[in-house]
Amino acid sequence: MTMNRKKIVAGNWKMNNTFTESMDLVRAIVDKTKGQSGTEKIIFPPHPFLKNIGEVVVNEVDFYTGAQNCSEHDKGAFTGEVSCDMLKSVGCTYVLVGHSERRQYFNETNEQLVRKIQQALNKQMKVVFCFGESLAERKRGSHFETVRNQLQDALGSFPKKNIGDLVLAYEPVWAIGTGETATPQQAQEMHAFIRKTISEIFSTQVAAQISILYGGSCNARNAPELFACADVDGGLIGGASLNAEDFCKIINSFG
Ligand code: PEP
Repeated sequence: MTMNRKKIVAGNWKMNNTFTESMDLVRAIVDKTKGQSGTEKIIFPPHPFLKNIGEVVVNEVDFYTGAQNCSEHDKGAFTGEVSCDMLKSVGCTYVLVGHSERRQYFNETNEQLVRKIQQALNKQMKVVFCFGESLAERKRGSHFETVRNQLQDALGSFPKKNIGDLVLAYEPVWAIGTGETATPQQAQEMHAFIRKTISEIFSTQVAAQISILYGGSCNARNAPELFACADVDGGLIGGASLNAEDFCKIINSFG
């Protein structure tokens, strides 16, 4: 990867672990990465644990928390929803938008994703925007078209002045939680395409600066060859982020 782009390894804990287990996990990760700079680390815990996890990482180098979801609304009568103001008030820096599980199981539409991104930016939060093709789309060869449309639909109206608050995460749906990882060649090919698409939507300068993470069964074994790809700037890690040793090995996987 190019040295002037931010390297990022993010752990999406999804709906796993109790409070005590989560606290033990974050403490183990902090212990193993103490004082390490250069690679930004982000933990996306379940909402109820954000404040406590945040207190563990707040004084660590290049270490942040993010929310797995946010409301598209500002505030009010939306039972069960969590606003960006609330997330910010517990020290949360990032929010994950567009994860395939949210698109698939909660029917989140592109229009909703645009509103969530807007909410996050309005509250000075940073966004990790996830996208990627399904297995059927990859098989029929329409994966580039799918990814271009996802980027165009969600980011077409993204304000260029906020581009520093945006991180991209390419997550082919067929690789998420399946144990089947994109090969480094597949990842590089798509990441280069994403960077080209971003240069068309914004500018070549923006495209050169934006961090693009790979996600989908990335683990301690395959991270070094994925992170060695010129346009892969890190990873969004699901399953392997629930094990402190594996997650820290991934953090240390840049050549
Ligand atoms: C994810 O859900 O963002 C993800 C990449 O999951 P996994 O690493 O388990 O495939």
